[in-house]
Amino acid sequence: MCTIGGMIANNSSGMRCVKYGTVRNYVLDLEVVLADGRVIHTGKKVLKSSAGYDLTRLFVGSEGTLGVITRAGLKIVPFPKTRKLILAFFDEADIASHAVIKVFSEGITPSACEILYKTTLSVLKLCNSRLAIAEEADMILFEVDGTEISTDEAARQIAEICKPLALSTRIVSGLEMQDIWAARRLVGAAISQLDPHKTRVYMGEDVGVPIKEMPALIRRVQQIAGKLDIPAMKYGHIGDGNLHVALFIDVADQLQWEKLRLAADRIHRAALDLGGTVSSEHGIGLARAEYLMEQLGWDAFSLMHSIKRALDPKGILNPGKMGFP
Ligand SMILES: Cc1cc2nc3c(=O)[nH]c(=O)nc-3n(C[C@H](O)[C@H](O)[C@H](O)COP(=O)(O)OP(=O)(O)OC[C@H]3O[C@@H](n4cnc5c(N)ncnc54)[C@H](O)[C@@H]3O)c2cc1C
Repeated sequence: MCTIGGMIANNSSGMRCVKYGTVRNYVLDLEVVLADGRVIHTGKKVLKSSAGYDLTRLFVGSEGTLGVITRAGLKIVPFPKTRKLILAFFDEADIASHAVIKVFSEGITPSACEILYKTTLSVLKLCNSRLAIAEEADMILFEVDGTEISTDEAARQIAEICKPLALSTRIVSGLEMQDIWAARRLVGAAISQLDPHKTRVYMGEDVGVPIKEMPALIRRVQQIAGKLDIPAMKYGHIGDGNLHVALFIDVADQLQWEKLRLAADRIHRAALDLGGTVSSEHGIGLARAEYLMEQLGWDAFSLMHSIKRALDPKGILNPGKMGFP
């Protein structure tokens, strides 16, 4: 439910970027209308170029602050022939993270590597009650893709690596795999159904840290939500260190809004404390503008600001976004 221009402007990504990369990895050339009306091309439809500054990458993720993308030359890749899922259930997030690190350090790159914390598994079941998934453990969902032979081998290896750490592991394919993915895709939106009086609010929802810091981030989020007494569901792309926190409140209650804002602020700062980012996917926009300087440091932030001023001296493109007037 988004445009190609919007995806490029946000450097969007999803569950398979752990293997396939983000939008950035697919953009070869952009046609961009600059603030003064000039139209430029940033690259060529070639896979490699060493000619000058990488303007394509400058515009990817610029959130419409530097120019308007009107055409894009994209690299495309074929769909894999086969996919398989490995479900691994763990007692706690620390052990689950350890298993993920072990899989990657064995040189295996899953095509997806998701975590669903115990409480979020009940949301998965809400999306499809027929799923044979126990709710009393944290689940890592690894996906492997490729040829029949390579996926069989990678799935077997991942299950073997997880076995000593996991409560149980299971390899899934076919219809069951499709059902699990369909339910997983609905989780973000379905969280509001847990309580008819509450609504999920997308704030502090998209932080990222180095993978080894995921357990620490989870603990911090739990403490923050616990202290403020706000429910926080947790799920995300653990293979990228990207945690989605779903805070949900009664939106008619002003006090809950205040607590939610405080919780979101503390979650952003926790990610920065752990060497991470306030947004792995959703972008800075207006909502996270106050954190960009803190994340980058003054020198890098003011360099970005100089680029913005050079390309848009009158500040007519998305004023205020990313903290630039
Ligand atoms: C509920 C929800 C779930 C999301 N899930 C994900 C996710 O899983 N992964 C992810 O990466 N992101 C996610 N996002 C963030 C964002 O919606 C996506 O990155 C999306 O790709 C933006 O595309 P859009 O076409 O909707 O852009 P818009 O929302 O319309 O715009 C986004 C920004 O890009 C700018 N922009 C739009 N088009 C252009 C253009 N042609 N040229 C220059 N600038 C432009 C806009 O000015 C704006 O600043 C989510 C957002 C929401 C609200």
